[in-house]
Amino acid sequence: MTPLPLVGTSAIKPRVYELDAAGLAAWCEAAGFPAYRAEQIRRWIFGRRANDFAEMHDVPAALRTALSNDFSLFPARRAQHQVASDRTEKLLLELHDGQFIECVLMRETDRRTICISTQVGCAMGCVFCASGLLGLKRNLTTGEILEQVLRLDRLLQKGEQITNVVVMGIGEPLANLKSLIPALDTLNEKGGLGLGARRITISTVGLPEKIRELAQLGKQYNLAVSLHAPNDEIRDRLVPVNDKIGIDAILDAADDYFTITGRRVTYEYVLLSGVNDEPQHARQLAKRLQSRIAHVNLIPMNGVSELEFVAPTAPRTVEFVQVLESFGIPATVRKRKGADIDAACGQLRLAQEREATV
Ligand code: SAH
Repeated sequence: MTPLPLVGTSAIKPRVYELDAAGLAAWCEAAGFPAYRAEQIRRWIFGRRANDFAEMHDVPAALRTALSNDFSLFPARRAQHQVASDRTEKLLLELHDGQFIECVLMRETDRRTICISTQVGCAMGCVFCASGLLGLKRNLTTGEILEQVLRLDRLLQKGEQITNVVVMGIGEPLANLKSLIPALDTLNEKGGLGLGARRITISTVGLPEKIRELAQLGKQYNLAVSLHAPNDEIRDRLVPVNDKIGIDAILDAADDYFTITGRRVTYEYVLLSGVNDEPQHARQLAKRLQSRIAHVNLIPMNGVSELEFVAPTAPRTVEFVQVLESFGIPATVRKRKGADIDAACGQLRLAQEREATV
């Protein structure tokens, strides 16, 4: 079992879903209960929205007691819960060590998409992003990743389900594959959330070896690559880790991802007025992507109070899309959700950390 993290001198119990199905079955047996009880417990957590072990009424009382002796269910403290006018909801969760993470629920007519974090802070240092401003504090555990999903799931009404998951919150997901992969397995599994891999999207700054590792899992997860620039000169300025990687190596790895999984890769491109939004940038980008089955998702810069970057005007954005389309590259502009609650990931945590410093 995972070692117990310590707060002060008192041990924090691990989340019961820190263990996978097989791990929980083994724990049940070791505790003197049949292995099949694990499946029943996981159904309560992932399907029946239990908030407490005590609610699991068809689980024997002795097993419920044993569970609560060894495990926690939702240990993170809800530090903030914001609801936007478009019904986007955002949770700021405080972890046992005083660190904060964010996760978001976005509603559309036929979809309920959640956005989750994988790290506390981020080491990538993208210059337009709020998440990395304070550097990387630590990786999240599998249980900490899953708790975000489960807490957002419990904001839904009866009959409503999470339909899509985007791993686009705080952190670089591929820098924490060790925790992320078991979490994704649980989301994907029938005994977990039962969400098809094609409904899960992982966004990466572009770490070639990790992209290949993900491809080798043999799953159909969607990959989104944060390109943000048509050439290395601009990308080096926007995404500091690029100077050790380079766009060509990222595109090669993304091509391998497509070959192995058959999933069309999305390239994200944050539009920054006066930096990477000129028609010639769009042409250069189009030429690089033209031979590929790709899709470009343009993200107008979401303002961060201490950063100077701003989004281009709407006509300029439309022009960028038109240039890409004239080269046959499908492009979409990301819709802004939760505009009135700072829903761009990292901003709430940043505000919280700043307040603590002041
Ligand atoms: N580390 C991952 C996940 C980052 S968040 C990655 O790099 O892909 C998801 C997307 O939002 C990324 O493309 C990221 O570059 C982008 N993003 C970050 N800050 C932003 C901002 N202020 N405005 C618009 N997009 C932003």
